[in-house]
Amino acid sequence: MQFFKKKLLCQQLIGLLIGLIPAMFANNACAQYLNGIPVLLYHHVSEEKTELPHLTVTPAEFERQMAMLKSAGFETIPPEKFVAYMRGQSVELPEKPILITFDDGYDDNYTRAFPILQEQGFTAVIFMVGVNIDREKRLSTKQIQEMSDYGISFGGHTLTHRDLTTLPENELKHEIGDIKKKLRQITARDIALFSYPYGYYNLKTWEKTEGADYQAAFTVLPGLNKPDRDNIYLLRRIAMYSTTDFDTLFKLLDANKAKTKLLEYTPEYGG
Ligand SMILES: [Zn+2]
Repeated sequence: MQFFKKKLLCQQLIGLLIGLIPAMFANNACAQYLNGIPVLLYHHVSEEKTELPHLTVTPAEFERQMAMLKSAGFETIPPEKFVAYMRGQSVELPEKPILITFDDGYDDNYTRAFPILQEQGFTAVIFMVGVNIDREKRLSTKQIQEMSDYGISFGGHTLTHRDLTTLPENELKHEIGDIKKKLRQITARDIALFSYPYGYYNLKTWEKTEGADYQAAFTVLPGLNKPDRDNIYLLRRIAMYSTTDFDTLFKLLDANKAKTKLLEYTPEYGG
């Protein structure tokens, strides 16, 4: 009887251990984004001299960066999943989630960045300035539609790219709300995300963005985004410069290093 009991106990222990193995792996998988989800911010991807040389990454360098992220197991996630995660909702995420964003809507996002993103099976979010759509060196309606059909998301970056913190209330409303309507007309999709021009925000810009029914808004505060710690209307992004030492940044991202490490790394912003 005693022997039987012992055997049973042993079987139970083995069963318990076997049961724990998947749980241990599951915990490891979660640990990859325990410090939050990174959001990268690009502007130009071009070989040419642009008006924002410090915010221009060459196509070869962009391709290298995307390939490094891909081979390390990073996966771009749709904005809906990112928003759900930030709202603390239960959502299934890949082991290494990331968001790739572009501000201002330059045409090189279509001609140079888009093929590279497709090559890696990545998506992105492009934040558009209303008055620049269909202008020279900016994205056209047709290009936006083609990318939207592929799965690139579009977000509001105001109508005229002015510093929102300096505007009176009625202009604020137009700058934030009208670009949403315009993009919805072009893409036939809901426009959930917004980014503040130059990263400038205050309480009023935040309230107006929320009031215009955006689900989330991005600043250029560096670091990772984590629920309960970061406000969904003041989300963080890591700005990518022509001078960015991506190998160093990559190590921090791949190790999912906490905000402080990324703050130490990130250089100054402009744009
Ligand atoms: Zn901008």
